[in-house]
Amino acid sequence: APSNEKIATHIFKSKLPDIPISNHLPLHTYCFQDRLSDDPCLIVGLTGKTYSYAETHLICRKTAAGLSNLGIKKGDVIMILLQNCAEFVFSFMGASMIGAVTTTANPFYTSAEILKQFRTSGAKLIITMSQYVDRLPKTDKDFTVITIDAPPENCLHFTVLSEADEDQIPEVAIEPDDPVALPFSSGTTGLPKGVVLTHKSLITSVAQQVDGENPNLYLTNGDVVLCVLPLFHIYSLNSVLLCSLRAGAGVLLMQKFEIGALLELIQRHRVSVAAVVPPLVLALAKNPMVADYDLSSIRVVLSGAAPLGKELEDALRSRVPQAILGQGYGMTEAGPVLSMCLGFAKQPFPTKSGSCGTVVRNAELKVIDPEIGASLPHNQPGEICIRGPQIMKGYLNDPEATAATIDVEGWLHTGDIGYVDDDDEVFIVDRVKEIIKFKGFQVPPAEIEALLLSHPSIGDAAVVPQKDEVAGEVPVAFVVRSNGFELTEEAIKEYIAKQVVFYKRLHKIYFVHAIPKSPSGKILRKDLRAKLASSMPL
Ligand code: ATP
Ligand code: MG
Repeated sequence: APSNEKIATHIFKSKLPDIPISNHLPLHTYCFQDRLSDDPCLIVGLTGKTYSYAETHLICRKTAAGLSNLGIKKGDVIMILLQNCAEFVFSFMGASMIGAVTTTANPFYTSAEILKQFRTSGAKLIITMSQYVDRLPKTDKDFTVITIDAPPENCLHFTVLSEADEDQIPEVAIEPDDPVALPFSSGTTGLPKGVVLTHKSLITSVAQQVDGENPNLYLTNGDVVLCVLPLFHIYSLNSVLLCSLRAGAGVLLMQKFEIGALLELIQRHRVSVAAVVPPLVLALAKNPMVADYDLSSIRVVLSGAAPLGKELEDALRSRVPQAILGQGYGMTEAGPVLSMCLGFAKQPFPTKSGSCGTVVRNAELKVIDPEIGASLPHNQPGEICIRGPQIMKGYLNDPEATAATIDVEGWLHTGDIGYVDDDDEVFIVDRVKEIIKFKGFQVPPAEIEALLLSHPSIGDAAVVPQKDEVAGEVPVAFVVRSNGFELTEEAIKEYIAKQVVFYKRLHKIYFVHAIPKSPSGKILRKDLRAKLASSMPL
């Protein structure tokens, strides 16, 4: 072929038209619009206390003034170290109102993990609970600690924020490119990385989901959206909280996942939209308690953050037959949503089980050959790349890592292998880093895990590579047996062998009581690999 011939670029777009997006605004202005209504905004699951939109907006403004009184200025970072609660929302939105930036962390982190994120982010103030104060950094550096419950020595109570005078919010000019959130990636494949998200990127991402005449994720002020996934992870912060605020929906805040309490709250508050992760789908599909509750209010179940096989999706469907089930695909660096099920649209499209949706509107997606970089057409798996105003500004203080992830043409390389089918639906195969290589053949663990979960006597499972002298790596599985089932290693190997090509067969089964997972629902395969390497798999 002539060398000057332009190589065709295959670019995938949403089936929904692009729309104008108000991403010149500050995030809080965009989310609250002018809606100061009495509609429920935040519903605290534990107590039943409800804050209307008007009340929520007012407390956010007070919090903004309070932060400013404590010396927090535009560009300063605050750290929220909390489970889901109303104060989380007041703090995040309040910080946005004065141009400050929020970094969110898991309150169950060890002192070392908290210290690392605290240092890297340069936070000046921490909002937390008294029980976590012991684990906060002990440094000479001056910083303020605020607790939402009775403050221990040297800490302030949250009322210094929530009862401040909202008229004292300083005037600040906020530019679209100013950072507003500093989430850290989950640390599934390495250390968590600080990700700079701007007002523009988060507004764009929210708009791609819930704005337009035919929104991709149709939410209204009549919806009650389940917020059980931790707000310290960007999935819940963006697709649950910010999207609900923008659409005027009520957000049901739940501190942590516990199946009985969850089912009770869904029934009591008539939850209509449930944002979940695969371990929660597993519980909803397999736990016998589900049959005792009325889940008929649920019209949408959105799963994201980790692979969900079509077998498990189908099992859940029989539990909530009236609901539309579908997935979103996200990555912290991508703002985070890359694709979303079009079955959730106001005028929905037909979709397939196992798909992660279609690329969001106002964005471009391509699939590239990981070796040569050329873009691939429909149905050919390769590395997924995304481009659009929603993606991160970059990794925090790490121009090298940023340049290695976002190329000069603005494409963010995800490290995920997937393909786009003839109906423009995205299917994730697995992460590049997780693919097991058996004699050069590729085995995606997620595919074998999905098959294992479809077995009625298997409660949970994870597949990882084990070093092998002949094959290089062989796939092995950690399996949790469902209560009361006698299931042998041979039976499981046989069950998989019947369904897959020879190189995807399992070579060993380790029975365990639980599979280690991150709070965002991801299997911690690196922990399992480490167990194998230490030659003490149990
Ligand atoms: P780190 O980058 O620190 O190793 P991480 O990639 O797990 O951690 P996140 O940004 O929370 O951190 O997760 C993004 C990843 O989650 C994606 O790259 C993808 O591998 C996975 N993921 C998200 N949604 C889905 C989905 N619907 N199906 C399959 N995988 C998904
Ligand atoms: Mg990642």
